[in-house]
Amino acid sequence: MAFIHRRGLLLGAAALGAFAITGRAQAQAPAAAPAPAPTGPFTLAPLPYAFDANEAAIDARTMELHWRFHHGAQVANLNRALVGQDAFAAMQLDELLMNLSRVPEAVRGAIRNNGGGHANHTMFWEIMGGRGGEPTGDLLAAINRDLGGMTEFRNRFNAASMGVFGSGWAFVTVTPSGTLAIATRPNQDNPLMDGQRVLMGNDVWEHAYYLRYQNRRNEYVSNWWNILNWDKIAARYGAAMAGTLRV
Ligand code: MN
Repeated sequence: MAFIHRRGLLLGAAALGAFAITGRAQAQAPAAAPAPAPTGPFTLAPLPYAFDANEAAIDARTMELHWRFHHGAQVANLNRALVGQDAFAAMQLDELLMNLSRVPEAVRGAIRNNGGGHANHTMFWEIMGGRGGEPTGDLLAAINRDLGGMTEFRNRFNAASMGVFGSGWAFVTVTPSGTLAIATRPNQDNPLMDGQRVLMGNDVWEHAYYLRYQNRRNEYVSNWWNILNWDKIAARYGAAMAGTLRV
């Protein structure tokens, strides 16, 4: 009020008129209309296959809901959190996640959850849509060397997936020299937040499997291997060693 009085004294009728117009405009604005999500800098890419491409493990309805609404909301909320954060909005997603400690605290949680979710789901869609089986070549050699071979790898990865309490992810991380390791993260955290790259990973949030499997996460994590696309995972392995793997 002191501010308005001072302005009124200084500017007289012009200032009072402007105040009246502002007041009327505010009264006519729709109540609590949420601002539309910005369309960038990040976007929800189309799935690289049909919703029913992963039926051997994941039903089409789950694929559609998961991609359109869960992942879609994370992209929209990430863009919202980046409004006014021009330096961070200009970053690639991996760079953003590797620099979370520099993000202003007011939006750090939103960027961690939604940026992590965007990275996790982008990788997740990419590595599925296949027919399972086993990898060959350099990737198989690395699995044999670092993870005890395919049978032990599957057993250890499934045990890690089952061991995630609540919502989270199981990952295989890959170093620039091609060394593999199994890791888990809670919520939508991603190993990029610790400076590590992800080769592959499985979403063990209930939204990823509940329609078909309900509480039977073990059946989901077991069937998930049947829809992996090892050509895509091998390409990610090559990219990791070439320094071109992003999320
Ligand atoms: Mn998910």
